[in-house]
Amino acid sequence: MHSLTRSKALFAEAQTLLPGGVDSPVRAFKAVGGQPLFIAAGDGAHLTDADGNRYVDYVLSWGPLILGHANPRIVAALQAAVELGTSYGAPCEQEIELARLVTRMMPSIEMVRFVNSGTEATMSALRLARAFTGRNKIVKFQGNYHGHADMLLVQAGSGVATLGLPDSPGVTPATVADTLTARYNDADSAAALFDQFKGEIAAVIVEPVAGNMGVIPPQPGFLAGLRELTAAHGSLLIFDEVMTGFRVHPGGAQTLFDIKPDITALGKVIGGGLPVGAYGGRREIMEMVAPVGPMYQAGTLSGNPLAMTAGIETLRAIQEPGVWESMEVQGATLMQGLSDAADRAGIEISHSLIGTMFGLFFHSGPVTDWDSAAQSDTERFGRYFQGMLERGVYLAPSQFEAGFLSTAHGDAEIQKTVDAAAQVMREL
Ligand SMILES: *Cc1c(COP(=O)(O)O)cnc(C)c1O
Repeated sequence: MHSLTRSKALFAEAQTLLPGGVDSPVRAFKAVGGQPLFIAAGDGAHLTDADGNRYVDYVLSWGPLILGHANPRIVAALQAAVELGTSYGAPCEQEIELARLVTRMMPSIEMVRFVNSGTEATMSALRLARAFTGRNKIVKFQGNYHGHADMLLVQAGSGVATLGLPDSPGVTPATVADTLTARYNDADSAAALFDQFKGEIAAVIVEPVAGNMGVIPPQPGFLAGLRELTAAHGSLLIFDEVMTGFRVHPGGAQTLFDIKPDITALGKVIGGGLPVGAYGGRREIMEMVAPVGPMYQAGTLSGNPLAMTAGIETLRAIQEPGVWESMEVQGATLMQGLSDAADRAGIEISHSLIGTMFGLFFHSGPVTDWDSAAQSDTERFGRYFQGMLERGVYLAPSQFEAGFLSTAHGDAEIQKTVDAAAQVMREL
């Protein structure tokens, strides 16, 4: 086992100053045992921890780093931008360019508002849907995560599930009274809510590919069913593409599955590793947003020039010829390798790869919703995780998180990962 002396000392100190020693609970290794690594640097597909150990990284800051760590193009663009100041609190040209890229890549988005996180994006998208429809209730799906806004912390997937908190204390009953939950991949369960609450539902919000209860693709007809249902009831369809946008396809899940949502929430890749979120949609809906319309939403650092710059370079890069395809090829090789390793070890797994996002359940499958995902062997995942970490592969520390690829994951990294998995699976 490699040394973790310095990470251990830092973690002990961090715990005296930061709750749990972390700034986001999913980083804490609670579900897999051991303690989080402190990271000193990232380069390409690799992370280096505080003790100098190197890992092939499939977390990629939980999705954003689709060009890998410290991509030279992003670093150069940021260095040039930072010389011109870090924040203006006034419009800058980069906001127009990033908006242009987003509206071209996702045609359902005619106008966009930039915010600073995915949480802000979904929270604002729901306020907008309520303002536009004049209705109060919203429908979400079990196991889908939409950020930590109060009204959305109901049956909310990985982070919450991993810690075994059904809902969070501090969220008042009144805040979630208008949040209804349906079953993922079951449009009929949403239809039943529309029957029960006729004329009251403002919007349905969904992860078009679920990525926060492991990776679960939509079953044929699920998304189309939601599109029909919301249209028939004068309600809005919100795609939370914070994870899937620019991950499952350069044009998001809406392009991959050819479904036009009314509002889209974005985050993660859109900031290229800096804090950016966004929500956008049809012009008539977006014109409800202040200062054009009455729906208030604001942000001191929104549209920040550094964050916009990283987003612009990232979205440009993934559209260059061959870039996306080559990530998909690496992904397919990786999944084949993991699947072969499991077969040879006689271990039943269920796996999926969609674009540059992948998942692996220790469960024979099919995994289609939260109930089936929750039957996975989480103890076995914990041993798999630790074994991979010891062999220099850094996976998300929970059975219920997605894995991510980047343009920096080449043949050598994929081979190292598959070799490690073959060894680890034999010992499970
Ligand atoms: C990560 C995530 C969010 C929250 O984004 P933050 O930037 O962490 O606030 C919301 N929705 C989905 C689908 C996500 O994966």
